[in-house]
Amino acid sequence: MKYPHPAQIEIDVGQFQKNIHIIRHYVGASRICLPLKANAYGHGLCPMAEAAVEVGVDMLAVSCLQEASQLRESGITAPILVFGAIHEEQIEDLIELDVEITIASFYKAELTAQKCEELGKKCRVHLKVDSGMHRTGVRPTTALELYSHLQGHPFLDIVGIYSHFASASHPSYPIALDQIGTFLTLLENPLFKSRPLIRHIANSEGVVHFPEAHLDMVRPGLLAYGYLPPTYPPSLAGIAPCLSLKAKVSYFKVVPSKAGISYGHTHIVSQQTRVATIPVGYGDGYRRALSNRGAVLIREEKVPIIGTICMDQFMVDVGNGEAYVGDEVVLIGKQGDREIKLQDIANQCDTIPYEILCQFNERIPRIYK
Ligand SMILES: *Cc1c(COP(=O)(O)O)cnc(C)c1O
Repeated sequence: MKYPHPAQIEIDVGQFQKNIHIIRHYVGASRICLPLKANAYGHGLCPMAEAAVEVGVDMLAVSCLQEASQLRESGITAPILVFGAIHEEQIEDLIELDVEITIASFYKAELTAQKCEELGKKCRVHLKVDSGMHRTGVRPTTALELYSHLQGHPFLDIVGIYSHFASASHPSYPIALDQIGTFLTLLENPLFKSRPLIRHIANSEGVVHFPEAHLDMVRPGLLAYGYLPPTYPPSLAGIAPCLSLKAKVSYFKVVPSKAGISYGHTHIVSQQTRVATIPVGYGDGYRRALSNRGAVLIREEKVPIIGTICMDQFMVDVGNGEAYVGDEVVLIGKQGDREIKLQDIANQCDTIPYEILCQFNERIPRIYK
């Protein structure tokens, strides 16, 4: 197939790798673990893993067995940490895939240890501590017990201990400060100093706002893909998005005054106007919430979406401007000096950039440049 789909997600691999270089410089000696869950935040799991490994990312992270297995099948040999709580039925496969497992309870620790013994294989694990997110992880006091219990186990190799922020959105955020305090206090325990452990807590916001939380490893996801929070130190300024969503105008027509557009006629044009049809819809993961709210770039002009977004197409009002069938349409990203920002789309959909990125599905080809 020469031209599988008139819409595509373009990934600027060079920019992605530049983002990682900038983060590397910023975090100094801390290792970098790149979160690749949910198809690498929609960017494409294996190609992003390869690009990250190429620039020396120390560890990759996924949420579940399935994602880890896809990485291993594509030939990725780098260390992979599985963030999610593990399921009993999956432990054997996780061990066989040689991935690093998150241990967040005595019960799963025991199951994992048993499986390792059965298979005669060692497994590297990270202890997950709940410092305030209350998702997964053992309480700090339990962490001490669990660690002493597992320490020296012939088949479980405890290589790391970590926690996760509930929020770290600005440098004096009390929740984050509390969590850092809880985690660092726990790590002060002589038990954890008896042998080297990779200590980690910082996601993107933690990386940007809390240098004291960089510790031995950082786990920036959204930041590595190029999205900075509203405030950040100047040395991070070169970080930029590496994803754009583009399509081509598939149809053009002039509609008369009072014409109703798309399903339900949720938009009625007030005067004769030019309407272009764009071959992207919620079937690709382009949110229906953008109906009558969003905009796209055509010929370096911002043109509004009119009417309801359909499964595979939607319409824009070109007004008196020009648009020809085949013209490039930018749905996310830059065209000339205009830009449609992911954050704006997220705001229009009443959600966060993460969710918008994750929803782009396999129907849209990813092109790596
Ligand atoms: C998703 C995730 C991250 C990355 O979060 P960002 O906000 O994208 O940086 C880090 N750690 C854990 C445990 C995660 O689940």
